[in-house]
Amino acid sequence: MLFSSVETLITQDVLAKRIEELGKELTERYKNHADLVIICTLKGSVLFVADLIRHMDIPLEIDFISIASYHGGLTSTGDLRVLHGMSTDVKGRPVLIVEDIVDTGRTLTKLKEMLAEMHPSSVEVCALLDKPSRRVVSIESEYVGFTIEDLFVVGYGLDYQQLYRNLPFIGVLSE
Ligand code: 5GP
Repeated sequence: MLFSSVETLITQDVLAKRIEELGKELTERYKNHADLVIICTLKGSVLFVADLIRHMDIPLEIDFISIASYHGGLTSTGDLRVLHGMSTDVKGRPVLIVEDIVDTGRTLTKLKEMLAEMHPSSVEVCALLDKPSRRVVSIESEYVGFTIEDLFVVGYGLDYQQLYRNLPFIGVLSE
C-alpha cells in the first residue's frame, strides 16, 4: 500500500552498498582518533545511522538531536527549533554529524553553530543525500552518500507528513 504511491529513486541494494563504503571510509578517517561522538539528527537519520555505524569498526558513542525545520510540508521555513537536545559532553572530542539530507543548508549551519559552542576538537558531516541546487546557505558535507536533483524524496527515514519513513528505499511520491 505504502509502496504503490512511490517511485524508486535509490534502491535498497544501492543504498546498502554505498553505506558500507561510507562506513569503511569513516573507519579509516577516525581509527586513530579516540572518543568519536556521532550525532544523529532525528528523526530522518535514524535508519541511516543504524546501518552506517554497523560498518564502522572503531569505538564510538552516539547521541541524538532533534531540530525542526520542516513542519509537515514541502518547503523549509527557516524557522529552526531544537526539540530534543543531546546529553553527551563533546568538549575536546571529534564529532561526526550524521544527516539524512542537506537541502537549503539551514539546519546543518545551525547545528554546527550550536556544536561549536560546546568546543569539540573537530566537526565533520556525513549526509546520506545532498541537494546542492537548493542551497541558500553555503555549507558542504565532508561525506555524501548521493547527490540528487531538486526532488522531494521519502523513505529510508525521510517522511512526508510523518509517513513513509519505513520504506527500505529512497523514492519520490507519485500523484
Ligand atoms: P535544510 O535545513 O537543509 O533545508 O533541510 C534539512 C532537513 O529538511 C532535512 O533534515 C529533512 O528533514 C528535510 N528535508 C529536506 N529535503 C527533504 C526531502 O526531499 N524530503 C524529506 N522528506 N525531507 C527533506
